[in-house]
Amino acid sequence: MANCQETLNEMYAYLDAELATERATEIIGHLKVCTDCQSAYEFHAEFKSIIRLKAQKDELSEGFLDRLRECFGDDSLKDA
Ligand SMILES: [Zn+2]
Repeated sequence: MANCQETLNEMYAYLDAELATERATEIIGHLKVCTDCQSAYEFHAEFKSIIRLKAQKDELSEGFLDRLRECFGDDSLKDA
């Protein structure tokens, strides 16, 4: 089973559905038993869906998106 560090490291890849099924299953398995990672996951999932929704509605300014990219890296926003 994945440990906390691995789970946190791969959370974004999991949210982007970029993990192999086997790996995703390990991450889910860990999330089920670890409340710490669970709350981190919920935070990231919610954050990502809010950003995506706002991006779809064109409510985000380019300056704000640039700051997000600086914080999280280009990859985290590529489909937002
Ligand atoms: Zn954990």
